[in-house]
Formats: sequence, structure tokens, C-alpha cells
Amino acid sequence: MNFDSYTDCGVVLAVDLVNSEGISEPDELGDLEALRTFLEDHEISAPGPLSAVVLGEVMALRPRLRAVFEAADGAAAARMINDLLQETAALPQLTDHDGDAWHLHFTPPGAPLAARLAAEAAMGLAGVMRAGGHERLGICADIACLEVFVDASRNRSRRFCNPDLCGNRSSVAAHRARRRAMAGP
Ligand SMILES: [Zn+2]
Ligand SMILES: [Zn+2]
Repeated sequence: MNFDSYTDCGVVLAVDLVNSEGISEPDELGDLEALRTFLEDHEISAPGPLSAVVLGEVMALRPRLRAVFEAADGAAAARMINDLLQETAALPQLTDHDGDAWHLHFTPPGAPLAARLAAEAAMGLAGVMRAGGHERLGICADIACLEVFVDASRNRSRRFCNPDLCGNRSSVAAHRARRRAMAGP
């Protein structure tokens, strides 16, 4: 299974957008400058004028995207993705605006930024569903992290967003808890 094939279709955008809202870290979309940097990093060109309202709309999109990862089953995830596509009236259109290479936009020029990001992220998640099903949409098992990820492992066994960091921290914590339990009251 090749997950690289749709990295440009919004799945990275979806994951990074959700994870920008840190559980134990400062918000990565804390202000307009941070939003501008985020958009640049994700090659969202010509985002239109940025304002507090626009930032608020983008932030409000994050729990909806997280909900797709948390969905109880594939049907629920598909429903949420379809809702996002419907609300944003997503319609793939080729464009080479501003001298860029041909790429797809899913909302018309001038659409609100949050709608544009929602459509793009929903298309990315739709790609994951199509290629591997809902089991591929993971949430880090480290309760101090809870970041989302796409599980590209062969047997869908990935439990942590970052096995070296979160996997390690979690096993150390579990080990300590076991030792405490053994020591008794
Ligand atoms: Zn573009
Ligand atoms: Zn993690």
C-alpha cells in the first residue's frame, strides 16, 4: 500500500491540522502569524486576507477532523467525511494559478479559507478510507499525547504517533505504574 500517493491530496493537511491543537503543548495556530506559517508549510497559496474570524473558523475545523479519527467505525467516519465534502460543496478543479504546477482545488476561488481546508482535508481522509479503511486512521495510545496519525504499517499495528518518543514514554510510565502496584499500599 502506497500512502505517499495521496499525501498531496490533503491527508498531511488533515493530520497536521488536528495535531496543531496540542493536548499538552501550546497551540500551533496561536495567532495569525502562526496560521500564515502553517499555510505556507502546507503549500496553501493565496489564502486570502487572514483575520481573527478566519483563524477562528480554521480552529473550529480541528475537532471535526479529529472526530473522523475517533469515529467508532468506518460508516461513522465516512458519514463525517461526506458531511464535510457536502458542506463545502467540494468539486475538484485543476488550476495552475500563480504560476504553480497543475494541482487540484476542491473549492472555488474566493471560498472561505476554512471551507477550502475542510474540503482538502476531507479529500485526504477519503483517500485513506478508500486505500485502507478506517483502521488506518490512528490516535496515539500515549494519553499525554493523543496526536492522530495515518497507520501505513503492513499489519495496521501502529499504536503511537511516534514509536520512539511516545512508545518509549508510555512503556516507561507503564513500568513505573506496575512497580508501584507491586510495592503495594
Ligand atoms: Zn492552489
Ligand atoms: Zn504520540
